[in-house]
Amino acid sequence: MVVKIPYYIIVLGTAGSGKTTLTSMLMNYLDSHQMDVAAVNLDPAVEELPYNPDVDIREWVDAREVMVKRGLGPNGALIASVDMLALNIGELKDEVDSLKSNYIIIDTPGQLEIFAFRDSGPVVLRTIIGDSKAVSLFLIDGLYALKPSNLFSAMLLSASTFFRIKYPQINVFTKIDLLSEAEYSGLLSMIENPEELASRVVEDADINLMWSSEEVYGLAEKLYSFESVPVSNNSGQGFDDLYALIQRVLAGGEDYL
Ligand code: GDP
Ligand code: MG
Repeated sequence: MVVKIPYYIIVLGTAGSGKTTLTSMLMNYLDSHQMDVAAVNLDPAVEELPYNPDVDIREWVDAREVMVKRGLGPNGALIASVDMLALNIGELKDEVDSLKSNYIIIDTPGQLEIFAFRDSGPVVLRTIIGDSKAVSLFLIDGLYALKPSNLFSAMLLSASTFFRIKYPQINVFTKIDLLSEAEYSGLLSMIENPEELASRVVEDADINLMWSSEEVYGLAEKLYSFESVPVSNNSGQGFDDLYALIQRVLAGGEDYL
């Protein structure tokens, strides 16, 4: 069977969820398993990266420069930078197309909404990826997710992001190295069992003013159609499972090498 490479791995999530750190760890992981991997940085405002990007948006747009030149505040400059990239996507695409790697990881801007919930983000992704295969990793901070209503709202945001980005999506819970054993098993039982999440959400939050527990359960069940995996971007814990899920989506479970 002819397999079309490269495969794209898009890293999404709210600011600080660990996108850049995961990109770096996943590069190391794939590299140490003899896979050929490259990274594209699409964050125009990042100062320092823990990995060497093969293609870097800052070559074309620098959010700080845009801020000064256009007299914009930080948010306006970020929005303008991502929109400017969409207008000049041709050169970036040529650079990505010249990469010979099997996997290309795309690290996205810090603020999810600037990328996923405006026109330019999905357009940029669609242009880069073309008809190749891609998977989205939606990162959720594991510490934040300990509170049931936080976890539920993060999973709703993940679904909402999926409606915008439209590639198969995996929820990745980060920072599990910061959890105690009891916290980790509490998180696992919620992310493995929609009934448990739903009952705890109803206990924990006032959303029962708005939704019945049956409705919350129905929603939670739908949200669990996304696979979930807990990881630490520091220790690499969980990366075997993450890789297995990525492979299942991209190559039907087979290593294509
Ligand atoms: P981004 O805004 O989504 O790209 O997030 P970053 O990758 O920049 O991470 C935000 C902060 O969280 C940084 O200080 C990281 O070192 C830290 N971080 C990210 N992932 C992990 C993790 O798995 N464990 C721990 N302990 N810290 C993490
Ligand atoms: Mg980042």
